[in-house]
Amino acid sequence: MWYTIPSESGFKMRSIYRRELGTILFIIILLVFLVFNRYEIIGINNKKEDKIVINYVEKLIQNNTNYTLISQNDFDTFSNVFMQNNDRYISFYINTTNGKTMQFDDLLKKKKINNFYDKVYELLALKYPSFIVDGIKNGEGEKVVEVKENEMIMYFYDYTFNPNYTENITLHVNYNEVKDYLNFKYKLDNEYYNESGYDYDKNKKTVALTLDDGPSPNLTPRVVQALSNNKMHATFFMVGINVRAYPQTVQLVYNSGNEIGSHSLKHANLGKMKMDAINSDLATANSYFNEVTNDNFKLLRPPYGSMHSEMVNSLEMPLILWSLDPLDWKYRDCDTVVNNIMSVVKDGDIILVHDIHETSVQAVEKILPMLYAEGYQVVSVSELAALKGATLQPHVKYRSITNESNN
Ligand SMILES: [Zn+2]
Repeated sequence: MWYTIPSESGFKMRSIYRRELGTILFIIILLVFLVFNRYEIIGINNKKEDKIVINYVEKLIQNNTNYTLISQNDFDTFSNVFMQNNDRYISFYINTTNGKTMQFDDLLKKKKINNFYDKVYELLALKYPSFIVDGIKNGEGEKVVEVKENEMIMYFYDYTFNPNYTENITLHVNYNEVKDYLNFKYKLDNEYYNESGYDYDKNKKTVALTLDDGPSPNLTPRVVQALSNNKMHATFFMVGINVRAYPQTVQLVYNSGNEIGSHSLKHANLGKMKMDAINSDLATANSYFNEVTNDNFKLLRPPYGSMHSEMVNSLEMPLILWSLDPLDWKYRDCDTVVNNIMSVVKDGDIILVHDIHETSVQAVEKILPMLYAEGYQVVSVSELAALKGATLQPHVKYRSITNESNN
């Protein structure tokens, strides 16, 4: 009932407010002082450690005018000064208590150094072909590492590869992957992604590899392995009777991220057949494929590239031809096939080889690293179309797929 109290009480209320206001102001001033004081304490510490690093960097730049500072990352016991020296990076680790230089391996737990590098090779193998991983694992070169808040970025210089590869090799290593091996305080991301060699780039030169007439139980798995070794994909145009004969090989290809298309039931010359015979041939081939994979063929490569216009108009499938034919079935010689491909290959090509000849499979094993080294991505026909911004359409014949042909 205080609202019935006479006016003098109202005056009292206001003075109470004034006193409280004074207290609040006092507390605010105290907090500001405390925060400022604390900031000062941290500031003094930082200044001391900063001086060590600043002096170090100044000396570096004085002694080598080619050095430019790229980043400086501070940790509990050291600071990483990451610089550019002409066309490459160079990294320094400075012990912030005594100002001495440390080696990169000093940042790792002594007994875990091998585990750390095993993990690095494992992550490299997710991103790069095996010929590059082997070159780094077994060869000699220089590793330069930028140590950041949540990850390290590794640069690999002066390693030799077979075939010769000269592009920059870099690897982002998230601390989640190596946390048990680090000898400093790190920050962990809740989410992160390892780099993958299968993240294809639409700005790179790209070709589709196609393998006809299989599957072969002995040779097709070698092609799948070679593709996997090089972070590549292909399209296998399979013959229906071989699909039925070698279901395990079909499964292997189907589960490997590669694409499978139809090459008719028995390698028939469809261009010389009537429509109902063609329909029944392709339906039987598809039923064999469906029995193994529960999936249906979405692409057709007519044997011999033979087709008539009625067939093109009535089949609800894109017709995949080729732009690069090394005539591997005719020469049956690995080096000839390699040369026939490498001498003319260009962006957007659809390359035709047969995974039923030993010499053709040898040639595939040889050209994949060579194509990688020349900057090519090797993918399936559907992936080539997607990377070139094209949608494969039924009733359309495709010989190659380039950006120009699909704008
Ligand atoms: Zn064929």
